[in-house]
Amino acid sequence: MLQALAVKYRPKTFDELIGQKTVSTSLKYALNNNRLAHAYLFSGLRGSGKTSSARIFSRALVCDQGPSDTPCGTCKQCIAALEGKHIDIIEMDAASNRGLEDIQALIEQTKYAPSMARFKIFIIDEVHMLTPQAANALLKTLEEPPSYVKFILATTDPLKLPATVLSRTQHFRFKQIPQSEIQNHLKEILIKENVRFEEEALKFLARSGNGSLRDTLTLLDQAIIFCQNDISVLKITDMLGFLDPNKIKEFYHAILTKNKEKVFDFLDELKEYEASSVIDEMLFYLKESFFARSTEFSTLIYERFFRILARAKNMICDDDGFTLCVMAFMMMEASYLKEIDTQINEIEQRKAENITPKITPILEQKIEEKPKAKNAYELLLEAIYDRDYELGECFEKSTQFISYENEILTISSNATRENRTQLNKGFKLIQELLKDKLGQNAKIAVQKEMAIDESKLQSITQDPSTLSNSKLDLNSSFNELKQGAKKFNPEEDVKEALKDCFGEPQIQE
Ligand SMILES: [Zn+2]
Repeated sequence: MLQALAVKYRPKTFDELIGQKTVSTSLKYALNNNRLAHAYLFSGLRGSGKTSSARIFSRALVCDQGPSDTPCGTCKQCIAALEGKHIDIIEMDAASNRGLEDIQALIEQTKYAPSMARFKIFIIDEVHMLTPQAANALLKTLEEPPSYVKFILATTDPLKLPATVLSRTQHFRFKQIPQSEIQNHLKEILIKENVRFEEEALKFLARSGNGSLRDTLTLLDQAIIFCQNDISVLKITDMLGFLDPNKIKEFYHAILTKNKEKVFDFLDELKEYEASSVIDEMLFYLKESFFARSTEFSTLIYERFFRILARAKNMICDDDGFTLCVMAFMMMEASYLKEIDTQINEIEQRKAENITPKITPILEQKIEEKPKAKNAYELLLEAIYDRDYELGECFEKSTQFISYENEILTISSNATRENRTQLNKGFKLIQELLKDKLGQNAKIAVQKEMAIDESKLQSITQDPSTLSNSKLDLNSSFNELKQGAKKFNPEEDVKEALKDCFGEPQIQE
């Protein structure tokens, strides 16, 4: 029978230990400098290398050439230990031998000197599973064992151990092995095993192993058989029930471009998969892009999408399709929103435009081609169009913007009789919208249209020689025109002009 990779590649020295540099350095130091404790506690996730370390450490302790950090591997102690047959290295699984009697039997053994090595070593796995009585019985021996006895306790859950046990042992915490290290390890093994592979595929295996090297190697065994010695992304995602990462990318793309048709197609396709694994895949993709500093998503979108995915995870119910639908639409909705910075800039630009108009916008429009923030008049016009299209048309046709200063929007009017009637009907609405858009104190002032010499204006803007004379000239020319046109006192003339434009306003209280 084929030997499992987890067994075949079990580390035999500290240097072969994957992802536990801190622990192995400390243990090596203790061995080389004869600073040995009588009881050790190794804690950490399953598959993080605790048992392997306990075995390497035991061998280093009993080796005829030792104790040193590199057991020779050839003496009879080493050979017996490597075969798992060393009479003085006793392994016990506390998950299945958790009672008082089991511990009492073990304590009994500590009373006899080692048969062939300098130490008698007890490795107790899953030590947190011991019953309280058993743990209590172990305490006394842990505290003052015979000089030839060493204890190595291992646990996945050190918090479940009584403080008395913790305080009598030297505690080594095994970290979760980083995925990159697991991936590298897989690569080395596959090269040694002569198996073809796509590196990207190893990522999926490493992820599925959840930081446990043993579990990942078991998956690798399965993958080699499933892929028939040729490990590819497609086959691995199929084997593990993952989505093809390209699909995820396309799905995100459809969401960001608001391509509803495509999003629906994907949702239909995703029905085959469990919602929870789709969400995990999407989270993983987003996380990878984020750390790769990909510009595929903006910072704001990252933040929103992460939130939505987290919410979707909590939303998972019997109807997987429903969860994914809601998630997809929340994402589309989120991608409509503008960046805060862009929005602040726009508002500030608009504000600057309204407070200090450098040049009258009518002229400015003719000179500048670039789109700019809307002025007060345009804002009002837009709001009118929004509420009542016909009124908007009428307002646009029969009025023109002059200025917006001190919260007074001055416009000129050339309303015909019919238009005047229509404007009068809409007056209340226009006022409401004005206050809504420009503030509660905003007022509208209407000036009857003066005969501004349009042909003269055009010659100023169109003549290239005068164009180069800077805006200042244009401005002063226009100011001259404006002075002629603006012979009114706003306070006094407003009422009259309003009446002229809209007729007698019918204000209802
Ligand atoms: Zn040896």
